[in-house]
Amino acid sequence: MAQIFTVTCPACRGSFPVHPELWQARYDLLCPFCGAMFPQEESPLIVTGSGEKRPGSAYKGEAAPSPERDPSATAESM
Ligand SMILES: [Zn+2]
Repeated sequence: MAQIFTVTCPACRGSFPVHPELWQARYDLLCPFCGAMFPQEESPLIVTGSGEKRPGSAYKGEAAPSPERDPSATAESM
């Protein structure tokens, strides 16, 4: 089986497969759903051919669930 990458569009969140040769050439990707062009590392979610999931290194949004933050940490109520 070919090692197809699956990337998620940062604009519409649609996911689509990318050929590994395109991936290695680091071409900008074209979303088939909304037509957005974006560098692959701006994808919010990349699934590699081996099943690894990670956000693109240039993605600036909410990439992963943020570490636990307790809003009640600020002692407001007594
Ligand atoms: Zn899109």
